[in-house]
Amino acid sequence: MQVAILTIGNELTSGRTQDTNSSYIAREMGACGWPVRTMMSVGDSEDAIKQALDHLMGLADAVLVTGGLGPTADDITTAAVAKAFGRKLYTDEEVMAHVKGIFTRYRLKWTENNAKQAVFPEDARPIRNPVGTAFGFSLNIDGKVVAVIPGVPFEIRRMIPEEVIPMLKEAFPGAVEHSERRTIKLFGLGEAAVDEALADADFKSLGVEIGFYPNFPENHIVLIARHKERAQAQEHIRRAVELVEAKLRRYIFACDDETAEGVVAALLTEKRLTLATAESCTGGLIADRLTDIPGSSAFLERGVVTYSNQAKIDLLGVPEAVIAEFGAVSEQTAKLMAEGVRRLAGTDLGLSVTGIAGPAGGSEQKPVGTVYIALADRAGTICRHFAWRWDRRRIKVIASEAALIMVKDRLTGGPAHD
Ligand code: ATP
Ligand code: MG
Repeated sequence: MQVAILTIGNELTSGRTQDTNSSYIAREMGACGWPVRTMMSVGDSEDAIKQALDHLMGLADAVLVTGGLGPTADDITTAAVAKAFGRKLYTDEEVMAHVKGIFTRYRLKWTENNAKQAVFPEDARPIRNPVGTAFGFSLNIDGKVVAVIPGVPFEIRRMIPEEVIPMLKEAFPGAVEHSERRTIKLFGLGEAAVDEALADADFKSLGVEIGFYPNFPENHIVLIARHKERAQAQEHIRRAVELVEAKLRRYIFACDDETAEGVVAALLTEKRLTLATAESCTGGLIADRLTDIPGSSAFLERGVVTYSNQAKIDLLGVPEAVIAEFGAVSEQTAKLMAEGVRRLAGTDLGLSVTGIAGPAGGSEQKPVGTVYIALADRAGTICRHFAWRWDRRRIKVIASEAALIMVKDRLTGGPAHD
């Protein structure tokens, strides 16, 4: 069963409002195993709506339409859809009573234009709206379905799962499938390299769809398996994940909703270890990300932003002579920062970052994007050198990510990313 989405509203085609309904609906349809063939937006114009419907009805079995169902004069979707399919309009008395009931219950002043919300094309089936006054409706047109619902994002988030999906399952009983989805998150490998590493992995014969999504500074692999039987879909996903792990294990740091900071937080909590951070070019971003995790006080003892040389000397005990000889952005300074914060905080781990985020401050030997990250623990201190070519904000983001993943690797005995 193929789906098309049509979003209606001048606010969309003028760029005032971003069309988030389409992406939401597409995700919901995808989860049901119904691929979305195309998405389209048009303004509140009868002609444009008719032409769009003609086009989309030729491409898909179900066309889902949002927007323009309200009481105001600029909301013309119902009339336009009726006209497109040569239907007259009628007033549904049951819906009318319901809408009037809402007005009475909430002591709202009834105005005659609200009666529009109980008007539907002939043969339409009203679609209930549990959170608003505007009903939607569906039409069966030669075995195909057109479903029209309001544009309010909050309302469609109730109407799609509660009303529209059950209606589509009833209309297309043969198309009901289970879909399983897994997102595998990688760091330290570019999109092209990820694609190449998986070039000869056979996802097709497993019936698994694979997509690559760069999500700076990470790369995400999304696997989707669809099957009539849920257990089969789950089994196919499991085998597809194994294929990815076999090729890319060292770059994988999380799955689905997990984040780098979440993984580090879980590991530190589980192992009852404490951490202190000393950040220069990341400006506290690592501590910020770790403190996003509820319960972070169990492992994060402190995070200091030691931006100037003097701060590195005063707050971390880095000898002035080391900075003078090797520079603030150097392996020597990074290691002493990590060791210093660990010693002063009395934690199991000390993590430090020092680098040049630019755009100024670079040199021939240490260009913008040069970053040193050091991690000190009982066993000693490791330090990694990175050379990124991003802008200031991205260098901060990727450096915080690299630092968190360095901690994760240290705690799991995982591989180094160089
Ligand atoms: P209502 O009964 O509330 O008037 P409606 O069907 O008339 O519903 P619209 O008037 O088109 O809906 O839009 C209502 C609100 O939803 C507006 O704030 C609009 O910006 C927003 N909206 C409409 N379509 C979309 C969309 N595709 N994506 C995101 N927001 C949208
Ligand atoms: Mg509108």
